[in-house]
Amino acid sequence: MSMSDSVVYLRCIKPTCGGTRSVTECEFTCPRCGDLLDVTYDWQRLPVPRSLRDLEANRHPSVGRWFQRGSRSSEASPLFRRSGVWRFWELLPVAPPEEVLTIGEGQTLLLRADRVGEYIGLRSGCLHLQYEGLNPSGSFKDNGMTAAFTHARMVGARRAACASTGNTSASLALYAAATGQMRAIIFIGSGKIAFGKLAQALDHGALTLQIHGDFDDALERVRQAAGRLSLYLVNSINPFRLEGQKTIMYRVLEGLEWRIPDWIVVPAGNLGNLSAFGKAFLELRELGLIERMPRLAAVNAAGADTLYRLWNDHQLRWHGGAWEKARAESYFHHLKETQRKASTIASAIEINRPVNLPKALRSLEVSDGIVCTVCDEEILEAKARIGAGGLGCEPASAASVAGARKLRHQGVIAADELVVCVLTGHPLKDPNVTVACHGTDEHLFQEVLGKRGFGRIASANPPVSVPNDLERIISVIEART
Ligand SMILES: *Cc1c(COP(=O)(O)O)cnc(C)c1O
Ligand SMILES: [Zn+2]
Repeated sequence: MSMSDSVVYLRCIKPTCGGTRSVTECEFTCPRCGDLLDVTYDWQRLPVPRSLRDLEANRHPSVGRWFQRGSRSSEASPLFRRSGVWRFWELLPVAPPEEVLTIGEGQTLLLRADRVGEYIGLRSGCLHLQYEGLNPSGSFKDNGMTAAFTHARMVGARRAACASTGNTSASLALYAAATGQMRAIIFIGSGKIAFGKLAQALDHGALTLQIHGDFDDALERVRQAAGRLSLYLVNSINPFRLEGQKTIMYRVLEGLEWRIPDWIVVPAGNLGNLSAFGKAFLELRELGLIERMPRLAAVNAAGADTLYRLWNDHQLRWHGGAWEKARAESYFHHLKETQRKASTIASAIEINRPVNLPKALRSLEVSDGIVCTVCDEEILEAKARIGAGGLGCEPASAASVAGARKLRHQGVIAADELVVCVLTGHPLKDPNVTVACHGTDEHLFQEVLGKRGFGRIASANPPVSVPNDLERIISVIEART
C-alpha cells in the first residue's frame, strides 16, 4: 500500500481554520493561525477495522523493520506485531508498517485492583489500573516516542530534543540509544528531576542541559533552540506523540474485553494524555466502533492547577473550536505577573503552562469530562495504597487514584461505575519520595518532604530498627505479623 500525503496529514485543530501541513514537514503548529495540529487520516482510503474485536493482537501480515546502530536492516522483525502501540496500526497509520520504528513498547497491563478500589470507595470489580510503568523506559511516554521516532526518521532528522520533567527525556534518551537514529538533547529545569529519570538520561548518553529555571522555562527554550537549529522536537506539542498515546486507551478497552468503562482517570500535566485519549475515543466513534464514550477525569496537583482553574473558575470551554484563547493568555500573564511557579511533589505534573490546553479542552468537551485537584498528601497516601494493593507507581501517577477517590466522595463517580485509573510511571522512578514518606530517616524526610509542610502519610510503613539479636528479631516479627 502506498501512503500519499493526502491519506495522512496534519490539520489545524480549529475546524474553521483549515490550515494543513504535510507529514514530510516537522513544524508542529498551524501555518495559518499558529494553533496546534492533529494528525488526520483519510479513513475512506485506509483499511479500517469493522469492529473492536477485529483489533485483537497479532493479525498484521506486514511487520516493521528494526534499525540498529544506524544501519538499515531490511530483515523483518516481530517487534511490530508485539508492540502494544503498533498492533493497533490501523488506528494510527502514520507510516507504512515497514517504516515504523519500534522497540516493542506498550506491552503493559490492565489489572483489576479491588483493594485500591475499596480505598477509593468503589465496589469490588469496579476499579482497574492501567500500568504503564511496564514500558521500556518505565513510563507511558514510550507509547508516543515510537511514533515520534517513526516520523523523525521519515523527515530525516538527526537530532531530537525535548524539555522534560524527567520521563520524556528518559524515553528520548532510550530510543536514541536503542535505535541509533538520532542524538538526544535534553533540557531539564534545575533541581526538578527525580533521580531515577536523570539516571536514565545520563546512562543512555543523552546531552543533558540543566537550565536555570523550571519546566515551563525549559520548554520555552527548547522550542526556541529547536527553531534555530532544526532540532526534532519530541515534546507532546508533537502530534505524532499523541497518536502513539492513543493506544493506551485501545489496550484499556482490550483489557476490559471491549467493554467501555464509565470513567478514565488520568493525571494532568502537559495534557498530552488527556488530548490523546479524547482523540482516540472520538475517532473510534467516528469509525462507528463505539457508541458511547467514557468520561475523562483529569487530575491536577493542587500546586500546578492551571487546567482546573481555567475549566472550573474561568469556565474556559472548547466550544467546537471557538475557545477563548485570550482568556488562557490572560491567566498565563497573571501567573507571570505574580511569579507563581508550579510546585508539587508529583514532579511529572509540575507544569503551569500546558502546551496541549486546547486539545485537552476538546477532549473534556466531547467526553463530558471533568477536572479536579488533589494535594500532595492525598497523592502520597494514594501512592502507598497503590503499592500495598500490588502495583506501584511514581507520585504523579497516584494523582489518578487520589482524584478518583475525591470524585467518589463528592458523589461524581458512583460506587458501581467501572473506573480505570492510568498509572503513568514506574515506582522506581522516584524512590526518594517513597522512602521519605514511609521512612524514619528524619534528614531525608526534611529534605524531600519537610519544606512542603506536611506530616507523614497515614499508611506509612517505616522500616523497623532491631538489634542484631535473634530473640529480639523473633519477638518483633511475632508482634507485627
Ligand atoms: C509526563 C507524565 C505525566 C503527565 O502527562 P501529560 O500527558 O503531560 O499530562 C504524568 N505522569 C507521568 C509519570 C509522566 O511521566
Ligand atoms: Zn489554524
